[in-house]
Amino acid sequence: MAQIDDLPPLRDVIAAHGLNAKKSLGQNFLLDLNLTSRIARSAGDLTDCTVLEVGPGPGGLTRALLAAGAKKVVAIEKDSRCLPALSEISSHYPGRLDVVEGDALKLDPVTLTGGDKVRIAANLPYNVGTQLLLNWITTPDWPPFWSSLTLMFQKEVAERIIAEPGSKAFGRLGVLAGWRCKGGILFDISPKAFTPPPKVTSAVVHLTPNDSPLPCNLKSLEQVTAAAFGQRRKMLRASLKSLSRDAEELIVQAGLKPTARAEEIDIAGFVSLANMISKTENS
Ligand code: SAM
Repeated sequence: MAQIDDLPPLRDVIAAHGLNAKKSLGQNFLLDLNLTSRIARSAGDLTDCTVLEVGPGPGGLTRALLAAGAKKVVAIEKDSRCLPALSEISSHYPGRLDVVEGDALKLDPVTLTGGDKVRIAANLPYNVGTQLLLNWITTPDWPPFWSSLTLMFQKEVAERIIAEPGSKAFGRLGVLAGWRCKGGILFDISPKAFTPPPKVTSAVVHLTPNDSPLPCNLKSLEQVTAAAFGQRRKMLRASLKSLSRDAEELIVQAGLKPTARAEEIDIAGFVSLANMISKTENS
């Protein structure tokens, strides 16, 4: 197994601090330093930016990010039991690791990272991973505060993020991510690599912001995708009725077929629909 620093092996850290994994916090720890280093390397050049990590746990990925040269890591951890282990890492890398105890869903990432250039890298807790990704890709400001996202998800979620129109996995997440970001799945990670092993395979996704996403009202795009994919088997003229009495007309004006189903519509189509909806709301 790779040696990346002089800190104790993660297994010993977990035992010393009694960090038995809690399911309620989505705790599946990655102890293989070859893998954590691979994820850290995939995040790009870390030497000139602050890396935001959600859920450092006992600090496996945190150590890999710091060993890969991260100028600074800001790590948000909800489980206070992990703080002593993380503070040992802070001492090993003076001034380069800030640990914030709290819920990443409730903290403002821009304030925490002090306006620096940010890359986000994390083995996300499965129960809040999708919501965190949505928060990061639906920030009102674009380009966003981050320059890349390197994130581990359950593989099924990763496939939904990068899904293409026409595929079964294509849904709200694929539209929003595809509209604002480019990227893909870098590699899979077997359940065996984790302690305790999860039931399913994981995958690492790398996304960077699209420089110029098609102009679109974000709120309307969220509404349209929620309505269309909320009833994905229905034709658009039925699934979008909840948004407008004139749904059928708006669909035609957006250049789409009212009889089409959500998964057949590409991202440009959803953007046109969203823009039509917001136009009627504002008129
Ligand atoms: N980064 C570690 C690794 O790769 O081994 C741990 C990853 S584990 C899948 C997810 C981590 O997120 C856990 O340490 C858990 O306590 C933490 N966590 C869960 N919910 C959180 C939240 N809302 N905010 C911040 N951290 C959270």
